[in-house]
Amino acid sequence: MKIPVLASLAAVLAAGLMLSSCTSADEENTAAGSATPPADAEGNVVVLTTGGTIASTHDEGGAVVPTVSGDELVDSVRDRIGDKVEVEVRQVAELDSSAMTLEDTDTVLTAVADALAGESTTGVVVTHGTDSMEESAVAVDAFLADSRPVVFTGAMRPFDDPDPDGPANLADAINAAVDPANRDRGAFISFGGDLIPARGAYKHHTEAADGFASNAPEDAVRPEALELTSLADVDVRTVAAYPGAPRAVIDAAVVDGARGIVVEGMGAGNVGTDLAAGIMDAVNQGVTVVMTTRVPEGKVEGVYGGAGGAATLFDAGVISSGHFRAAQARILLAAALATDTDPATLLEM
Ligand code: ASP
Repeated sequence: MKIPVLASLAAVLAAGLMLSSCTSADEENTAAGSATPPADAEGNVVVLTTGGTIASTHDEGGAVVPTVSGDELVDSVRDRIGDKVEVEVRQVAELDSSAMTLEDTDTVLTAVADALAGESTTGVVVTHGTDSMEESAVAVDAFLADSRPVVFTGAMRPFDDPDPDGPANLADAINAAVDPANRDRGAFISFGGDLIPARGAYKHHTEAADGFASNAPEDAVRPEALELTSLADVDVRTVAAYPGAPRAVIDAAVVDGARGIVVEGMGAGNVGTDLAAGIMDAVNQGVTVVMTTRVPEGKVEGVYGGAGGAATLFDAGVISSGHFRAAQARILLAAALATDTDPATLLEM
């Protein structure tokens, strides 16, 4: 479920293709980006920078580390955005996104809320590492009551690469943030020429320039936005199932005080007998358990019985992640626990 960012969304809507699948504009794994900005683009965009490859360069040892300021990033794309688009840069963090914690998620949520508090703001762009972009994007989406778009973007190749993909991605994101057709649709990830709704988006490739895909169904819906609340203190763990996985991995999370556990099951959401016993005990002790799957596409469903079958586990109170995979299910479970919301309402789409 990707939407080519270059296509006029109005045209896409008119064609009835709003949420349908389409091939990336980028067949050869090079970001296409906007050759020219949309002629009628206008508005005020706040660009929040958090680090990631888009803001990184190689150090003396050849490792890639965040070094580039937000102003430098935006300066590199001035000629790819409309003359009538004003951009304000706010540096929020300078992190590799794999190092982010839920405190950092709170920082992003607050920065987005502050940016939207400005009445003249037309839309918000967040530059972010790709490793955990899907988490931050779905967190923002969960708390986004505002109609104005919030568009995440990043890069697979660093700023000092001979052929960086970040500038085209950033220009696309800014142009998407001022596009009225993107209002009332929540948060997005703009990447490699595609504009993908945050819910259901995931990094599907470690290197390709169009590294994001979506597992959302065509008729996906967004739940009502939650009231902004801190996620930092909500302890939600992810546990991977595999053939023969011992219940000790679940027990350890429970003993450690986890309030929620996302189990990455096999197939449509099934686990082995020993792990299932641990899950049942966790549920009985008041821990909220969500079942997702290690399979990239499709829905988690209670098809199979038996000790570790999802049908059995759902009867015992385990909640299906639906189309969400572990990364986003964990954030939505944390948001549900933080706001006293039934997780199932956030996981439906
Ligand atoms: N490790 C980097 C990060 O997530 C990867 C990237 O930005 O593409 O920050």
